[in-house]
Amino acid sequence: MPKTIIIFFGPPGSGKGTQAQMLAQKTEWKKISTGDLFRAEIAAGTEAGKLADKYIKAGKLVPDKIVFGLVEKSLKQKTAGFIFDGFPRNKKQLNELLAFFKKILKKNDQVYALEVAVSDEEIKQRLSQRRMCACGKVYHLVYNPPINKDICDICGGRLFIRNDDKPKVITHRLKIYHSQSKFMTDYWQKQGRLIKIDGEQPIKKIHEEIMEKLSELKLI
Ligand code: AMP
Repeated sequence: MPKTIIIFFGPPGSGKGTQAQMLAQKTEWKKISTGDLFRAEIAAGTEAGKLADKYIKAGKLVPDKIVFGLVEKSLKQKTAGFIFDGFPRNKKQLNELLAFFKKILKKNDQVYALEVAVSDEEIKQRLSQRRMCACGKVYHLVYNPPINKDICDICGGRLFIRNDDKPKVITHRLKIYHSQSKFMTDYWQKQGRLIKIDGEQPIKKIHEEIMEKLSELKLI
């Protein structure tokens, strides 16, 4: 059976992680989120985690070598497809991934990039209201609040603000995103493999639109 690979990209806080998760629940495709992989390494106190933590806290990208190590491990899973969230994030990572795909993908396998487009103003507003739980669940104080203030609905854990969601760091992350994303958009557009979604709609509506587009392309 051909494999499907969907690469989500969009600015930090665009909701791509939420959408990638919703898509993973509707399909048999495995989600690979580099941000989640790093957070797991940090929580486990590994050497890679300690190193990554310094970059993440500063709003910088983690060095490519650490990223690849983790992604390659995840790509070994047996599955009908992969959903990438947060990777590749720059030209070097994209080229590395394409070289890897050349080795492992077959002719009928399908790779598409899915851009969740959101303006900078909206991003700044959203990230300042984002709260996380150590279990991975993400909340927004206005659009997707927990039932009890500061407490996770799923596991009862105490919610926190990600260090990289602090205002100064957000501005820096957006700057990095814009400097890298044009290359990604141009590349996938040229391949005829760019799906663009308006990320300023309600979460459910965005998900429906993604499902529609994937269905039009006969991927689901
Ligand atoms: P995310 O959860 O995708 O917003 O990622 C959180 C942070 O992890 C980012 O701000 C980066 O510092 C780091 N990170 C995630 N994915 C990558 C990647 N592909 N390359 C480099 N750094 C990454």
